[in-house]
Amino acid sequence: MRYAVVECLVCGRYLAVDSKIGYRKCPYCGYVNKLGVSRIVKRFKSPREASELVRVLNAKDEEFKPLA
Ligand SMILES: [Zn+2]
Repeated sequence: MRYAVVECLVCGRYLAVDSKIGYRKCPYCGYVNKLGVSRIVKRFKSPREASELVRVLNAKDEEFKPLA
């Protein structure tokens, strides 16, 4: 399956990586996550499904943050 949801090594948030490219810069902290280095949570055939999981996982993390 082409799209992998990975956990950012630096900030711990989630992002979708296209395995044909093999890496992606984290939109939150700027760290470049590489497949084979960052932990893969799940793989998907479609980018839509991958980004949906990213959205759900990142929304879950928000709950644990103190209110500003
Ligand atoms: Zn990050």
